[in-house]
Amino acid sequence: MKILVINAGSSSIKYQLLDMDDESLMASGIVERIGEAQGELSHKKIVKGNEQKTVIEKKIGNHREGMHLLIDMITSAETGVIASTDEIDAIGHRVVQGGELFNSATLIDKSVKQAIEENNPLAPLHNPANLTGIAVAEELFPGTPNVAVFDTEFHQTMPARAYMYALPYEFYEDLKVRRYGFHGTSHKYVAKNVASAMNRNPEDINVITIHLGNGGSITAVKGGKCIDTSMGMTPLAGVMMGSRCGDIDPAISGYIAEAKNISAAEVDSILNKKSGFKGICGMNDMRDIHESAAGGNQRARLAVDMFCYQVKKYIGAYFAALGTVDAIAFTAGIGENDDIVRAGVCSDMEGLGLELDAAANDGRISHQKKISKDGGKVDIWVIPTNEELQIAQDTIDVVRGN
Ligand code: AMP
Repeated sequence: MKILVINAGSSSIKYQLLDMDDESLMASGIVERIGEAQGELSHKKIVKGNEQKTVIEKKIGNHREGMHLLIDMITSAETGVIASTDEIDAIGHRVVQGGELFNSATLIDKSVKQAIEENNPLAPLHNPANLTGIAVAEELFPGTPNVAVFDTEFHQTMPARAYMYALPYEFYEDLKVRRYGFHGTSHKYVAKNVASAMNRNPEDINVITIHLGNGGSITAVKGGKCIDTSMGMTPLAGVMMGSRCGDIDPAISGYIAEAKNISAAEVDSILNKKSGFKGICGMNDMRDIHESAAGGNQRARLAVDMFCYQVKKYIGAYFAALGTVDAIAFTAGIGENDDIVRAGVCSDMEGLGLELDAAANDGRISHQKKISKDGGKVDIWVIPTNEELQIAQDTIDVVRGN
């Protein structure tokens, strides 16, 4: 079965075509700057592990044109990997916010689209773009099933004590204010794969999954099900991130708005775009931050120190929430590549049974690897995430009615 995975943003479409008979990647790419004077498509054709890259720069007026372009790429003689779009069995769409309406991947029909639209106020930048991607796919691939896979669905198993905020109860009832959590597809993939790497059933173990990329979130997974996660109603909550502040005293928002005489929207933009690593040291890429810290930049050092400490505190909290923990698993850009952060997070955690093997932790890690000492109480793993593969697997399950 061949599955096309689509992740439509407000001005971009990311795509992957996967051959699910052997779970291999056939092609991937991104259409960017849709609607701007000059757009760009960057496409990779992958044959037997060899990549052939094509870049096209031209005006891409809208998502429909963008989708046409990517269809040309995957089907043309030069850059393509299939003869016609008829070979695509189903399309899996990443949808950011499913709210309380969706706890699993879902075949898209009119009522599902309506329900996604109902969640637009909770994800005003993402859900409308996801819906545009779905509409264009329905138009250009008539008869092909479309499946929505939600970032939030894995977290729908959280109990009320974990997802409720201590606010007036009607805010939950009327405005849907609660913790939803994000990166669910990644946490699901990592929780499942760490279990199989340990030769255990996901149902039999408790795991803390630690997704640290440009955005970061940590999830407590009990017997394969999420019981708590660090992001909240929006992806702003939890640990500090590239440019997002993470958890702060909520009174700070009003204080800044008043002191600087700026609107709530401006405060929101500062918390999302000018905070986190960027706010502390002016850089948001961890590679640059380490380089600068090594050169003596104290703010860069502080950013790394704060980050490791915040991740460590969530791990401690989720040990308490889970009762017993069999493994913690790092993933995503920082989690997979950054041995300094992994070491910082796991330092002085012997009391909880976490003992890092310094040699195994060394350097970037691009495959599933145990990085704790043998015989330790709690395993520490690096499990490279693959959200697109998880979306493709969920899409197949829906199409087959599993
Ligand atoms: P992601 O959002 O998962 O794509 O992760 C992107 C982030 O991973 C970047 O912003 C970097 O901060 C981080 N990253 C990528 N490669 C490395 C590396 N070799 N060392 C440290 N951080 C890295």
